[in-house]
Amino acid sequence: MSALTVDGRDGAARTGRLRTAHGEVRTPAFMPVGTHATVKSLDPDEVRACGADIVLCNAYHLALRPGVDLIERAGGLHSFMGWQGPILTDSGGFQLVSLSRVTAVDEDAATFVSPYDGTRLRVSPEDAVGLQARLGGDIVMCLDQPVAWGSDATTALAATARTHRWAARCREVHPGGDRLLFGICQGGFDASARAASARKIASLDFDGIAVGGLSVGEPVDLMEAMTATSVAELPDDRPRYFMGLGTDNELLAMVALGIDMFDCVAPTRLARTGAAMTPDGRLVLRRAAFRDDLRPLVEGCPCPACRRFSRAYLRHLFAAGEILGHRLLSLHNVAHLSALMAGARNAIGRGGFESFRATTEARLRGADASGSELDDSVSPPYASPPAGSAQIPGTLGRRG
Ligand SMILES: [Zn+2]
Repeated sequence: MSALTVDGRDGAARTGRLRTAHGEVRTPAFMPVGTHATVKSLDPDEVRACGADIVLCNAYHLALRPGVDLIERAGGLHSFMGWQGPILTDSGGFQLVSLSRVTAVDEDAATFVSPYDGTRLRVSPEDAVGLQARLGGDIVMCLDQPVAWGSDATTALAATARTHRWAARCREVHPGGDRLLFGICQGGFDASARAASARKIASLDFDGIAVGGLSVGEPVDLMEAMTATSVAELPDDRPRYFMGLGTDNELLAMVALGIDMFDCVAPTRLARTGAAMTPDGRLVLRRAAFRDDLRPLVEGCPCPACRRFSRAYLRHLFAAGEILGHRLLSLHNVAHLSALMAGARNAIGRGGFESFRATTEARLRGADASGSELDDSVSPPYASPPAGSAQIPGTLGRRG
């Protein structure tokens, strides 16, 4: 039986509930990223209050620091990090690309070199599932081998074939029960390879399936085409997770294609740079225009930053280097994407998703055309990773 109950449909978009051992996730869902077992600067109660049902933690980073033994002794991630809701753990496959200078892959396993102290961590597909189970993830991910945007077809096909073999090995050692195991389909940027990979992963009867290897710098229309090709081959009754995506337009485009779950570091990473995500685009609070602006960030937003503080105050916090500014913007940005998903769920439920999407996009376009507030240029980590960064060029650096 699928852990997903679909409650409503509108075209290919659907809304539902995903059952996990630590509660339900309302879908479509945005998952804030807690790479190091914390959604940066936020207390778990605050994350929940922002509307998040589930958080993502990164098994690779946590295995390196502080180590799985300690987290297991603490009673697992839920008790270690004080979050009692659902947790999805990421296997580390993405780091095989993003940290490709310090990783190596052979048929049996992936080898990571710790950026903290240089120690080697060798992880087989079986290890990846075992480590995530010891961490206590409610949803654990197969170890996969994505490829970078621009890789040649031979490389992409070989990595996809290895991803399939690794998926079967992960499936083999997963004990089942109430811990869910998600497969990941790949296929590079070739439609027939994408479709074949989705079919192969679907055949292994996972609890859910992620569409991997996209949003790595490719054009948006290609990303959408590859996603549609993948989704067409996936079982309707299983949750579908698009790995790493965080702008309003992109999220809604993927919801329209039938994706149920997303994650991205964008809300907290943008917050660190002083950028607020709003229905009218990004507000860059360092700009002088906000010096005397006593309006809230977003009128009607229920988050603590908007309920209690003005744009001028938030700008002041950033100008003065006060960490409360980062915290308040993180709260707001997580609340913004959670509210976007809540809006999508409601719209799908009443059969008005396309209208909701059109209205949301038109408002963003309007702000863009006015040129007054939307500004994508202020956050260098977003647009182009700094030299020496381990991100794939053009990505949102989804795993931090
Ligand atoms: Zn707000």
